[in-house]
Amino acid sequence: MAELRFSALKEVYNRVPVEKKTPSKSISEYFGTNVFDLHKMEHYLSKEAFRVVKKAIYEGKSLTRQEADQVAIGLKAWALEKGVTHFTHWFHPLTDGTAEKHDGFLEMGENGHMVENFSGAVLVQSEPDASSFPSGGIRNTFEARGYTAWDVSSPVFIVGTTLCIPTIFVSYTGEALDYKAPLLKALSELDRAAVDVCQYFDKDVKKVIGTLGCEQEYFLVDEALYYARPDLVLAERTLMGHQSAKDQQLSDHYFGSIPERIMCFIEDFECEAYKLGIPVKTRHNEVAPNQFECAPIHEEVNLAVDHNQLLMDIMKRIARNHKFRVLFHEKPFAGINGSGKHNNWSMATNTGVNLLSPGKNPKTNLQFLTFLVNVVKAVNESNELIRASVMNESNSYRLGGHEAPPAIISVFLGTYLTEMLDNIASKVTEKKMTPALKTELKLGIGKIPEILLDNTDRNRTSPFAFTGNRFEFRAVGSSANCSASMIVLNAAVAYQLTKFKKEVDLLIKKGRNKDEAIFQVLKKSINESKRVLFEGDNYSKEWHAEAAKRKLCNIVSVPESLKCYLTQFSKEVLIGSDIFTEKELESRVEVEYEKFTKKVQIEARILGDLAINHIVPTAIRYMTTLIDNVKGLRDIFSDLEYERLAGARKEMIIIISDHISNIKMLVNEMVEERKKANVIEGSYKKALAYESKVKPYLEDIRQHIDKLELIVDNEIWPLPKYRELLFTK
Ligand code: ADP
Ligand code: MG
Repeated sequence: MAELRFSALKEVYNRVPVEKKTPSKSISEYFGTNVFDLHKMEHYLSKEAFRVVKKAIYEGKSLTRQEADQVAIGLKAWALEKGVTHFTHWFHPLTDGTAEKHDGFLEMGENGHMVENFSGAVLVQSEPDASSFPSGGIRNTFEARGYTAWDVSSPVFIVGTTLCIPTIFVSYTGEALDYKAPLLKALSELDRAAVDVCQYFDKDVKKVIGTLGCEQEYFLVDEALYYARPDLVLAERTLMGHQSAKDQQLSDHYFGSIPERIMCFIEDFECEAYKLGIPVKTRHNEVAPNQFECAPIHEEVNLAVDHNQLLMDIMKRIARNHKFRVLFHEKPFAGINGSGKHNNWSMATNTGVNLLSPGKNPKTNLQFLTFLVNVVKAVNESNELIRASVMNESNSYRLGGHEAPPAIISVFLGTYLTEMLDNIASKVTEKKMTPALKTELKLGIGKIPEILLDNTDRNRTSPFAFTGNRFEFRAVGSSANCSASMIVLNAAVAYQLTKFKKEVDLLIKKGRNKDEAIFQVLKKSINESKRVLFEGDNYSKEWHAEAAKRKLCNIVSVPESLKCYLTQFSKEVLIGSDIFTEKELESRVEVEYEKFTKKVQIEARILGDLAINHIVPTAIRYMTTLIDNVKGLRDIFSDLEYERLAGARKEMIIIISDHISNIKMLVNEMVEERKKANVIEGSYKKALAYESKVKPYLEDIRQHIDKLELIVDNEIWPLPKYRELLFTK
């Protein structure tokens, strides 16, 4: 086995960077060439078809069959010019990736002639018979029918020779089976609620969109080493491996110059991303060795989510060309930083205003404060739901896991805004406000610096931080489809804005003027949300104690956290606003419990296999060498000398033997616990059992293996070590 490790290492040492395929043109010249965007629509569609598609995109109007046929004609013409042969409905099932099933344009024409055909009917809807995707009991495999339907708001694109049509995925009976359908509903709910609140400030606002920019963190591992680590291949994380003597202590990787081989990979995948209209902009080395980040310019949430899913796909594909594997797992290596996908999120109006960016005068700033406070309140009220939206097996190693961030969801605002909110909370009274107080408050908020970006202190430990003109939701995991977090965040904010509007309107009805009513409800909201505001170090022990005092919950258990999707309040937020039906929500949580159980089960099996078939035999081999050595000493030395020389070796034999026995015993116990858990009825209880009874063994077993790694002869150790995985590039 060790041969594989050493031949892999040799391969890595001899690697030369793969030549880049980036065109010599400037990026703006080829940006979006593989996307059927408005510009191309105008060119390829009839005037009428172009008009109806635009209406569908901006106003959500659906297309008639004839209109769809018109669009299909233009789309086919463009696709054929680009050498496309197949098309697929591209959707986001409740797994971690995206799904596609290709069909050729090819059809049998008259007299046996083959022709390329593509109709409006297949553009708009398809029945992929995708019966094996998780549905949480909504469908049985014998009633396989699931439909995909075109999401006109996300443009069609080409990958290779396939035309990809972004779609939602629903069951025959209309229930959502994917992430996109509820996301679109949540975004439309936010639109409605935010437009209503905007009317207090600007009657011209007709539409509000959520905006999202995802910072994507990832690790790169050389392909040869990756193949020598079955745990990486099957679970995308190392289930064993002693910490490298040097890893991230010196912070010398962070923002360092990007190594050439890595740079070639980055430029190549960025180029593919540009062609697909994904505006990647930022790239840098991250804190952990071989960890990197890329971030696009923010876009409308639905599009940003599609682009992030597509980007992960592109990165995986291009990495192979460069003999790398990209790891999106939240915690591929113990003891060093994990990866997140910071969701930078805000709201923008059709009039071009970022609602979380302060403006120039008291009026726009009151609007800014209104939205800011309502987001804070939403995070306070939907605290458990927001955590549930980012909790899953792989992210549990980050959230509340071995190192920060904790599973406590708090909000950071910075000193300036914190003082501002304190001021409002302390000055505004329940009684009618005096003209002097009104003027004072308005003067105060009029002074909020237009560019808060430069005036806001940063807090890198906060799971939900205000960063000057947006919130950065950092608890989202790097491998996640951000739809899950975006459905919940946008729904929670929409719910809160609706409540806010009702309260303000009620006060206005009672005779308060508008500003006064707004101030009063803001004050109430600030006071009610105080517990969620935290400016200190979220990684500290003190925060855990303080959060408990504030009754802010800290649920590290994945199933327990997921269960919060089903509280009365969560249902009010998600079902009350028609984002989910009760059945959809329950089945979704069911899917999550099952996913959790299966992932722990897979990891437990891999570890058991590696421990017994790779590690134990290696340790026994080395122990045998030591035993032979001790026997040899006995043969050639006198008793006295033998005792002096053999002592240390004998001790090593005992230590190795103890580790072997422990591994053997723990693996057996783990298997027994799995057997017990497997027969538990009910996916919640089963997930709990897997978490509390099976998962701890992963840690316990690896402890012994990692100790052995430090003792056993390097020459025979079968798996690439952390120093090799992290420091070869
Ligand atoms: P950081 O300093 O947090 O590392 P980055 O430059 O890595 O920042 O990423 C910031 C992300 O925030 C980018 O994707 C950027 O487009 C996004 N962003 C900026 N403004 C907004 C906004 N109004 N809404 C959503 N995302 C935004
Ligand atoms: Mg960043």
